[in-house]
Amino acid sequence: MITDANIATLKGALRGALLQPGDPGYDDRRKLFNAMMDRHPRLIAACADVADVVTCVKFAAAEKVLLSIKGGGHNAAGLGMCDDGLAIDLAHIRYVHVDAARRTVRVGGGTTWGEVDHATHAYGLAVPSGIISTTGVGGLTLGGGVGHLSRRCGLTIDNLLSVDIVLADGRIVTADAKSHADLFWAVRGGGGNFGVVTSFLFKAHEVHTDYAGPMLYPLEDAAEVMRWYRSFIQKAPTDLTGFFAFLIVPPGPPFPVHLHNKPMCGVVWCYAGPLKKAEKVFKPIRAFKKAALDMTGPLPHPVVQSMFDALYPPGQQWYWKAGFFRELSDEAIPAFVKHGSNLPTWQSTMHLYPIDGAPSRVKPSATAWVHREAVWAQVIVGVDPSPSNREKLMKWARDYWTATQPFSSGGAYINFMMDEGVDPIKATYGKNYARLVKIKRKYDPTNLFRVNQNIKP
Ligand SMILES: Cc1cc2nc3c(=O)[nH]c(=O)nc-3n(C[C@H](O)[C@H](O)[C@H](O)COP(=O)(O)OP(=O)(O)OC[C@H]3O[C@@H](n4cnc5c(N)ncnc54)[C@H](O)[C@@H]3O)c2cc1C
Repeated sequence: MITDANIATLKGALRGALLQPGDPGYDDRRKLFNAMMDRHPRLIAACADVADVVTCVKFAAAEKVLLSIKGGGHNAAGLGMCDDGLAIDLAHIRYVHVDAARRTVRVGGGTTWGEVDHATHAYGLAVPSGIISTTGVGGLTLGGGVGHLSRRCGLTIDNLLSVDIVLADGRIVTADAKSHADLFWAVRGGGGNFGVVTSFLFKAHEVHTDYAGPMLYPLEDAAEVMRWYRSFIQKAPTDLTGFFAFLIVPPGPPFPVHLHNKPMCGVVWCYAGPLKKAEKVFKPIRAFKKAALDMTGPLPHPVVQSMFDALYPPGQQWYWKAGFFRELSDEAIPAFVKHGSNLPTWQSTMHLYPIDGAPSRVKPSATAWVHREAVWAQVIVGVDPSPSNREKLMKWARDYWTATQPFSSGGAYINFMMDEGVDPIKATYGKNYARLVKIKRKYDPTNLFRVNQNIKP
């Protein structure tokens, strides 16, 4: 229970601020990236350090208070914040330490990916992550991590070497391949179910300047482009990642005026191999068909990583649906094209991220992320600034998902899901679900950490 007396005790024990409704800064801290999610916790702890996290976890456990953890606050389902309970905000536990000799990067639990890219770029290194730089390292990593380097370097979890984690009983442990190996297995895909990760240690790769950017084609060619893309990408060198998209050309620079607001399809390429080979790698892509817009070229890796930031500022309405695909059959493609040609707003989109290559070289039983045989992770995102378009976004995303699901290989990436109940979570973890439940029982038997895609103990 939260009482005035125990609030005063908690406040006195914390080095960071403890905010209540009405306090300056309370509304800013409770805000999430997805404005569709509007949560009002009773308390927000702006944890200054790991000790503050331990204090909050012990408080929530002792007082049986709902506990949430905010990393970057990007989770579309709003899982970075709770109503009524105690919200841990990790925004101050933010740092990036690069060990160039070992090629490792230590990152604080509340850091965002743009900060990691900025720090590692100076050393000519990068950690594989997502496609928007404002996303939190915490949520993205614990869910899996799919992005521009996936085919070359694997998922983000495939590059995770260890975590420092505060458990439900307040203990701080380091989990890696040797110590608490069961926990280390579970956090690689199992989300925030097992504790508060205060520090991540990643393996970094030599990446400096990519050859990257979108190539767009008229919608009339969408079926042909998809058919070509599905076979090309699976044979392409793994230094090349390229996600397929249906999109509406943004109405502003650097896009040419004649294409503004035009629905199109295309591939957003990122070649992270030796630059001198880039033109050769892109030769068959250009030979397939002349793109209506080809914006590919050499770009510093952090620029590629933040290419979409301006399109997607915080505070918009977001609704997501997701799936995995092993193939894009001739029967499936018309369903993709039909709904992809009917985007409800100009920021809405559908992406197919290739996760063959390096991610598929890891066994499904090696980490909690089981979908190692899938070739694409699909995300259907309805986005708009206006809450009045909410229903329209939801209907479009659900219709798209319903039409393409019959061709999917089952489950969905948890970081691309809304709050959809237990069955989709079970489907997502498949054969690994029972093992996750066992580990959850061991480390969090009372389900203290349940504001997440929850694995019930
Ligand atoms: C615009 C946008 C683009 C995206 N692009 C990609 C992409 O390219 N690739 C990709 O893989 N995903 C992508 N995502 C999805 C993203 O991975 C998830 O939304 C993820 O949950 C965000 O992490 P966060 O820390 O910002 O979120 P939060 O909302 O802060 O947290 C999400 C969940 O993770 C838990 N959590 C966060 N930090 C910690 C921690 N340190 N310890 C324990 N639990 C923690 C929270 O409790 C919560 O359950 C994108 C999301 C958005 C909004």
